Amino acid sequence: MNQAEFPKRQTEDMSDRAFRMGEGRISGFISVALGLLSILAVLCYKFPSYLTTPELRAAYDPALLREILKYGMWASITFGLLTFILNRRKRLGAVGILATLTAFALGGYWAEGPAIEPTAYFAGLDWLVLDLLATATVFIFIEKLWPKYREQAILRPEWGHDLVYFAFNHLMIGVILLIVNGFAPSYFNWAVSAGFQAWIQDLPLILQVIGLIFAADFAQYWVHRLFHTVPFLWRFHAVHHSSENMDWLAGSRTHFLDTLCVRSFSMVMIYLLGASKEALDIYVVFASFQAVFIHANFSGNFGPLRYLITTPQFHHWHHSSDAIAIDMNYAAHLPLLDKIFGTYLMPGQHWPEKYGTVGDPLPRGIIKQHLYPFLPAPKSETQPK
Ligand SMILES: [Zn+2]
Repeated sequence: MNQAEFPKRQTEDMSDRAFRMGEGRISGFISVALGLLSILAVLCYKFPSYLTTPELRAAYDPALLREILKYGMWASITFGLLTFILNRRKRLGAVGILATLTAFALGGYWAEGPAIEPTAYFAGLDWLVLDLLATATVFIFIEKLWPKYREQAILRPEWGHDLVYFAFNHLMIGVILLIVNGFAPSYFNWAVSAGFQAWIQDLPLILQVIGLIFAADFAQYWVHRLFHTVPFLWRFHAVHHSSENMDWLAGSRTHFLDTLCVRSFSMVMIYLLGASKEALDIYVVFASFQAVFIHANFSGNFGPLRYLITTPQFHHWHHSSDAIAIDMNYAAHLPLLDKIFGTYLMPGQHWPEKYGTVGDPLPRGIIKQHLYPFLPAPKSETQPK
């Protein structure tokens, strides 16, 4: 492999966005983030019927979460005060403390709401708060320790844009589950084989999980490939490919109809397979982690494992606008599918030079990007062909 064929990516200068110790920005930012999350968490306790997710409520321990909220609120105040001690970035510290005081005024970590009543509609605010806290903590840690692009700041360009997508996708979890879970039984009930499902459920757990990974990814591969190759569908999926900086947050940028389509069809395969609930739970945790991980700014190469399971390097090539990378690496879990169907690209240790779409850039903003597929095509279509 000739080195010159793979020019190195030039990351734009983000030094003005970088966090440096002692400036008060790190503590200020943590204070603001925890303060705002505290307000949202308190609202979840005040209005649990409308702002929390039934599936999640069944899984978590509210008493433990109250403890975490308590520590989060006091940490926000402490980090806010620290910015004053550091004598810099007072505004960030003030916003963080003010947000936490608002959370205290709303009832704080002892806030109580009415008893939970079943409602037809709810926003997954608890899912947003918990997943944002966990994912941001884990991935910022991983991306700082082993970054692919060291110069890329945590608050890289368009991080706020992608955070809006992250929030939207999480708040809409109720609608997503309703549609995705309803699609397969409504249209594919005829294809269920009780005998086949009984045979699957008798398999060892690990084989059931592997079966789920393979079945779901087979559907994802083909729906994803259609979204690339059918020009009208590409306009929806171009939203996801418009990110020019890859990290844990970049993968959140997806058109809502794209999300619904891919998830609905992978759910059809999961539904027909009929694996045990235990296997499905393991698959959901694995798939949720991997969906974030493959977009991450993470340099690990995983040795021979990278041929078995998709990695950030593999999926970064899918997001590349380099000529050799167009319409390659569709798999979400198994590179083997790309091998079988002739779309596999993994040029040794090399990484892409450019990310994003080819042609005119997409508009920015979640509303404009959601309208984009329905507006007249620009002169230079973004189809990566
Ligand atoms: Zn794609």
